[in-house]
Amino acid sequence: MTHPIRPLQPGATLGVMGGGQLGRMFVHAAQAMGYRTAVLDPDPASPAGLVSHLHIQADYLDPAGLQQLAEAAEAITTEFENVPAQALRTLAERRPVAPAGDAVAICQDRAAEKAHFGASGVPCAPHAVIETAEQLAAVSPELLPGILKTARMGYDGKGQVRVATPAELAAAWAELKQVPCVLEKRLALQRELSVIVARGADGQIVHFPVQQNLHRDGILAVTQVPAPEVDAALAAQAVERAGLIAAEMGYVGVLCVEFFVVDDGQGGSALVANEMAPRPHNSGHYTIDACDVSQFELQVRCMAGLPLVMPRLHSPTVMLNLLGDLWFADGQERTPPWDRVLDLPGVHLHLYGKTSARPGRKMGHLTVTAATPEAATATALQVCALLGLPAF
Ligand code: ATP
Ligand code: MG
Repeated sequence: MTHPIRPLQPGATLGVMGGGQLGRMFVHAAQAMGYRTAVLDPDPASPAGLVSHLHIQADYLDPAGLQQLAEAAEAITTEFENVPAQALRTLAERRPVAPAGDAVAICQDRAAEKAHFGASGVPCAPHAVIETAEQLAAVSPELLPGILKTARMGYDGKGQVRVATPAELAAAWAELKQVPCVLEKRLALQRELSVIVARGADGQIVHFPVQQNLHRDGILAVTQVPAPEVDAALAAQAVERAGLIAAEMGYVGVLCVEFFVVDDGQGGSALVANEMAPRPHNSGHYTIDACDVSQFELQVRCMAGLPLVMPRLHSPTVMLNLLGDLWFADGQERTPPWDRVLDLPGVHLHLYGKTSARPGRKMGHLTVTAATPEAATATALQVCALLGLPAF
């Protein structure tokens, strides 16, 4: 990968592959710092395309679209991991691209991702790769009950089937059209964490505090920072491991690593890496309102070759995801009662400009900041009550 020899100064154009909410918040951060932006996304109503200086409406592998992006943007990043790695490699022939296509390719494939965790010296869940009928037949009973996950293209719990017996496993693989999969042992989770690091081309790494995450139906629902139930030693280990994973692939950019906390068999806790994302992450959205530097600003700094600084959490915070379900009540479509929610102290509303609400679709998020973790939680619980969200 090539890198800018000198930093790209504000006024330059920064490009992003993908126009979802992560791209939108990247565009907001880049523009706040005085950059121009270019978004490549085929959707004419993409959340990032709507706010960018330039929106190239093209498929991710369309040569003309990629050429236009490489001409317009002096450095390029990505906002989702399923952008074809080949598109990033093509762009890298002309412009600095961070993260690199090779790193994104690892994150796109659960089997490659788990192999990379191993190579980094980081434990992950016991698992088996299933690409053939022979591999299916050879699965160790130790891995059951387990979760069969498609190796590629999964998100928000999609492409996953829970299985308890070899017969269920075989049926699940057939249901998933026998695409390459990973069977993971189902672990008893004490809780879930994530760590976001940013790594520069010179190898410098900075990180955000450890996030404690609650998922519902395989979708992130709540993030709390500081993590209420994580001691300092475990948090330090999570940060160290995320750094090892980034360094092992020579990563440049913002990387999120999700961890499970499980029993260590001796009455304590152990960390298991779940998966990683080669970009800012939903569990880091709180950084916009609760940190002095956001994950999106660090994405800008990484790709522009600007200095990285260690971010500081200035307010304890709770982030609530706002799914499309909130736009429906009693079988009727509605606007959630934002006026009442915004009457509470320290509430920051972020909506992504998506035109239609669907159950399970990420429409926005809301961050509560307060002077103490207890106050942030208390306000967030009031928000939950107003919106009809379950308490956490
Ligand atoms: P996303 O990319 O949106 O984070 P995903 O579809 O890639 O999600 P995973 O992170 O693999 O999915 O799993 C989603 C959630 O399902 C996890 O956060 C966890 O709550 C649960 N889960 C996944 N794997 C396991 C496991 N091996 N044992 C127990 N729970 C699991
Ligand atoms: Mg996940």
